[in-house]
Amino acid sequence: MSTMANTKQPHIFIFPYPAQGHMLPMLDLTHQLALSGLSITVLVTPKNLPTLNSLLSIHPLIQTLVLPFPSHPKLPAGVENVREVGSFGNIPIINALSKLQDPIIQWFKSHPSPPVAIISDFFLGWTSKTANQLGIPRFTFYSSGAFLASVLNHSWQNMKTVRSKAIVDFSDLPGAPSFKNEHLPSTIRLYRESDPDWEFVKDSSIANLFSWGCVFNSYEALEDPYLDYLTRTLGHKRVYGVGPLSLIGTQMVAPNPHPGSINALTWLDGCPDGSVLYVCFGSQKLLNREQMVGLANGLERSGIRFVWVVKTGTTQEEAEVIPDGFEDRVSGHGLVIKGWVQQVLILGHRAVGGFLSHCGWNSVLEGIVGGAMIIGWPMEADQFVNARLLVEDLGVAVKVCEGGETVPDSTKLGNEIAQAMSEKSPQKVRAKKLRDEAIAAVDNGGSSSRALDGFIKELARPKFDTLHG
Ligand code: UDP
Repeated sequence: MSTMANTKQPHIFIFPYPAQGHMLPMLDLTHQLALSGLSITVLVTPKNLPTLNSLLSIHPLIQTLVLPFPSHPKLPAGVENVREVGSFGNIPIINALSKLQDPIIQWFKSHPSPPVAIISDFFLGWTSKTANQLGIPRFTFYSSGAFLASVLNHSWQNMKTVRSKAIVDFSDLPGAPSFKNEHLPSTIRLYRESDPDWEFVKDSSIANLFSWGCVFNSYEALEDPYLDYLTRTLGHKRVYGVGPLSLIGTQMVAPNPHPGSINALTWLDGCPDGSVLYVCFGSQKLLNREQMVGLANGLERSGIRFVWVVKTGTTQEEAEVIPDGFEDRVSGHGLVIKGWVQQVLILGHRAVGGFLSHCGWNSVLEGIVGGAMIIGWPMEADQFVNARLLVEDLGVAVKVCEGGETVPDSTKLGNEIAQAMSEKSPQKVRAKKLRDEAIAAVDNGGSSSRALDGFIKELARPKFDTLHG
């Protein structure tokens, strides 16, 4: 643990949530805050420290506070990241991490120049209470979008009504969307009243509504109505859409491709522009055998070139199984990558024209930025909400399948992939516009760049010093 920090600049405390899709964008935001000269301490537990390697190599002055991961009866010993247990782990992990409140407060109290603000992930809403106790503001970082935050805010506050309906209308939200109950975000769908762990998650989520400000990995052209809606309903203007953060993140400075990514990039070099479909379903979801067969046959039938990332695990249960003979049959036409690939680099390759995705928020943003047409298969979590934004609100994507257990019909899937990847489609034209708007947003004077400046000014406002202590 290190306690020295650059005392000339406001000192900010960053607390990322230990899941790939939450941590990476938050570290990209931290990179921007460090570039602006803020003094920073990042809290992580020991096994998550390596995720900070790129950030720390670019900014050696960033300090870390490494605290042991607190135990929880529902978590196997040694687990410190959702990646290790899958999305079921969120509830115990949120509860376990809340036991860090006292060590955090003690660390602040013993620090010669303690942080003047906390920025923490939206899965760590309980840190609002910590900030209150310390007399400093807390900003909620949403690794996801403003539409999701609007749906979540409404749902947590109206849990009984929301859960009692087969079709839930969000009539107050822009566009008055409605969702089938089974398509609501997983935390809402799976919530168990009176279970202490779930009640804690509910209170913690509601606390986000009362944080000093909210920062979104999103941008105006993508989510303007929802950013506006949140500004209105939260009752203050400290709502900042600063994304897409991958465009201004550490990978842009230190891409450092690993061997799997280099193989895929070399293979892509030999393919015509926009001809390849990239297939990947994020960091958590594993497809079962039947789903793998349906997808493999669909890809083969489509006749489209593809790169497919198949997850390998440390045990057989954690691994996806590639159907026998598939790799030989598609050799030359399709590339199967086992394990992990640096998605941002693959999506940025000129040969990639489409992205068969589960519609996780980071994937969505990375696909847009990479100029790939998104072909959606939402499965769980926030993915149905994200898919609705892309397919219905913005018309930049198509949906070919839905549901975490659904086995795709390979003939239908193959035809739809071929159709979506064909030369002209209105979605492709609109997706290209959204991509240009994303690039403009983070450029000097763009909406995200202005929001980031506003956020940094707010962090550095001297009034926080008077709030402190
Ligand atoms: N990712 C990656 N390589 C992979 C799989 C995932 O780089 O092989 C990254 C991807 O770029 C994204 C994150 O992991 O930034 C996944 O986040 P997302 O919100 O899309 O989905 P989740 O994993 O939360 O379901």
